[in-house]
Amino acid sequence: MDSEKYRERIKSVLITRESIANGLVKVGKYIDGNYSGKPLIIVGILKGSFVFLADLAKTVTIPCEFGFMAAQSYYGGTESTGEVRITLDLQQDISKYHVIIAEDIIDTGRTLKAVVDILRARNPLSLEIIALLDKPERRIADIQADYTVFTIPDKFVVGYGLDYGEYYRNLPYIAEIESE
Ligand code: IMP
Ligand code: MG
Repeated sequence: MDSEKYRERIKSVLITRESIANGLVKVGKYIDGNYSGKPLIIVGILKGSFVFLADLAKTVTIPCEFGFMAAQSYYGGTESTGEVRITLDLQQDISKYHVIIAEDIIDTGRTLKAVVDILRARNPLSLEIIALLDKPERRIADIQADYTVFTIPDKFVVGYGLDYGEYYRNLPYIAEIESE
C-alpha cells in the first residue's frame, strides 16, 4: 500500500497506547487474583490477539501457560456468517486446565461463539473470555466477555493487532479508519 495513503486513512486515535497499558495492568491483576495456584492456560486467538496477548502476558506474574488457536470465519458481506474453521489448534489437553481466551475484539460474536463451543466440549476446568475490545451494538451471537478492557461504539478500528486488509496490525494504538 502507498505509505501516504496508508497514513491518511487513519482518522483518529480512539485508544492511546497509555490507556491500553493502564488497562492491561488491571487485567494482569485480575488474572493474578483469580488464578493463583491453579493450572492456567491463556489462549490467544490469532491473528488479531497477538499484540494484546504479548503485552498482557507481561502483566501476569503467576505461573501460566500460553496457547494459540486460529479460526477462519466466513463472511457474507462485511459480517461473519458463523461458519468457522479451526486452522490452528491447541497442543494442550485442556481438561486439566482453567482456560482464559484472549480475544482482540467481539463484534457479532459469531467467531468467538464457535471457538468457545469447541473448547467447552473439551471440558476445561473453567473457561473465561477476556476481550480487549467489545462492540456490543453489533452482537448477534449469544456471547459476552467475562472481562472487557474497552467497550467501543460501532466503528471499524485498527491497530494493536487489528487489521484492515491485513495492514495496520502494528500500530501501537487503536485508531478509527476511513474505509473504502
Ligand atoms: P465476529 O465473528 O463478527 O465477532 O468477528 C470478530 C472478528 O472480526 C475479530 O476477531 C476481528 O478479526 C474482526 N473484526 C471485527 N470488528 C473489527 C474492527 O473494527 N476492526 C478490525 N477487525 C474487526
Ligand atoms: Mg481479523
